[in-house]
Order: sequence, then C-alpha cells, then structure tokens
Amino acid sequence: MGKYQHILAAVDLSGESNAVVSRAAEMAGDNNAKFSLLHVVEYIPIDLANELVLPQQQEIEEQFTLRAKEHLDSLAAKLKLPQIERHVANGSTKAEIIRFAEEQHADLIVVGRHGRHGLSRILGSTANAVLHNAPCDVLVVKLGE
Ligand code: AMP
Repeated sequence: MGKYQHILAAVDLSGESNAVVSRAAEMAGDNNAKFSLLHVVEYIPIDLANELVLPQQQEIEEQFTLRAKEHLDSLAAKLKLPQIERHVANGSTKAEIIRFAEEQHADLIVVGRHGRHGLSRILGSTANAVLHNAPCDVLVVKLGE
C-alpha cells in the first residue's frame, strides 16, 4: 500500500478530462489506491426567483445525470479502467467535490486547471476552490491553454 489510499479524480467530461483521469490513474497505480471518478451536474433552473421546482426541471436534471453516468462509463472503458468507481453528484461543483472527498475519505483529489487570465482568474476556478477547501492533498493537472 502506498501513501495514498483513495484517489478522487473530478472530471467535467470535456475532452480534457482524459488528461486528469490519466494522471490520477497513474497515481492510483503507483500507490495501489482505490480510484474514484466524480462528475457534478450543476444544473441551475432558469427561473431562479421561483423556488418551486417544476417537474420539467427535475426531468432535465435526471437526464443530465443519466448522460453523465453514460459518459463516465465510456471514459472508463476508453481508458481501459473497468474497475474504477464512478459517481455523479448534483449541486455546486466545488462543494460536492469537497463533500465527496470528506465522506469517502479520499486522501488525494486530482483536478484540472486551465491557463486562464483576466476576470476568470480573479473570480477563481474550480481548481482554486478545491485547493483552498480540500480536506486532503490536491494534485492540479495543467490543461491545454
Ligand atoms: P474549471 O476551472 O471550473 O473549468 O474546471 C477545472 C477542473 O475542475 C476540471 O478539469 C475538473 O477537474 C474540475 N471540474 C470542473 N467542473 C466539474 C464538474 N462539473 N464535475 C467534476 N469536476 C469538475
């Protein structure tokens, strides 16, 4: 057993997810660690002022969740990682990544980071938020510009 026992890769399901998952897989292999993939469906209803959740909104969120699960399955198959655990959460991406890491006792979170400049950098990215709030180590993989 290596230093890390449970490695969590947070993936946004873009083409760049492969880089994050590949790096996390290497780390999991080196450490003989459990390996989980997490995608968060952050669905914001259009009618923000209305607290009523309409059935259509629930359906849309369910559809997103279903598609995310399929996407994670094909990502695992593509990267030849059939044993990997796959999870889809709903809510705030940053908060759900932290919550999952805490609940599942992940000891390393792997996220990607874009080489952003300007406003988005000031506002902060998911990677930033995870870095500052994680209950464990964080590995930030630099993604293509
Ligand atoms: P961002 O800076 O928000 O574009 O995303 C940077 C990294 O945060 C991505 O490479 C992922 O590792 C993670 N991330 C972003 N969105 C999600 C999501 N919806 N679910 C899980 N991880 C995410």
